Amino acid sequence: MPRYHSAMNTPRTRQEVAALLQAHGVHATRQRIDVAHALFGQTRHLSAEDILEYLNTGPTTETDTDLGRGPLAGRSNDRPVTRRAVSKATVYNTLRLLLERGAIRALVVEATRVLYDPNNAPHHHFFNTLTGELTDFPAGPVTVEGLPVPPAGTVADGVDIVVRIRPTAQTSR
Ligand SMILES: [Zn+2]
Repeated sequence: MPRYHSAMNTPRTRQEVAALLQAHGVHATRQRIDVAHALFGQTRHLSAEDILEYLNTGPTTETDTDLGRGPLAGRSNDRPVTRRAVSKATVYNTLRLLLERGAIRALVVEATRVLYDPNNAPHHHFFNTLTGELTDFPAGPVTVEGLPVPPAGTVADGVDIVVRIRPTAQTSR
């Protein structure tokens, strides 16, 4: 399962995310980089809530009085290096901007849950109905036939295939 992801989608650094924003005509402010990097810095599909939580539970700065005592003490990674609240509005606004510019895709896998996709390559998804996890697979070899003509005044903008999967052995509890 993870091989689908690793083959198609790799985590990006903050510098790469900033370049990606600019390539899509998005002014790369620090907060926008924070939000975009929360998504592009991983290989998972994340909801806005996931991103909000990720940003606001990152490691603390040297000005934080708890530094050196918490479970994240001394931990170095690619997250934002300073603690600052990123508001829900900023997360949603940035995601909407990235969507408008075609930098990410939005996937509605369940009526109540939208996941944002950092993978720009043409691909479709497995959706595990048990865990809610989405896994990528390449669009290359897949063909879809017999699609209806789009309604008047519209054109097809893409076809998203979601293959719903469940464990082979059904366990009953
Ligand atoms: Zn995907």
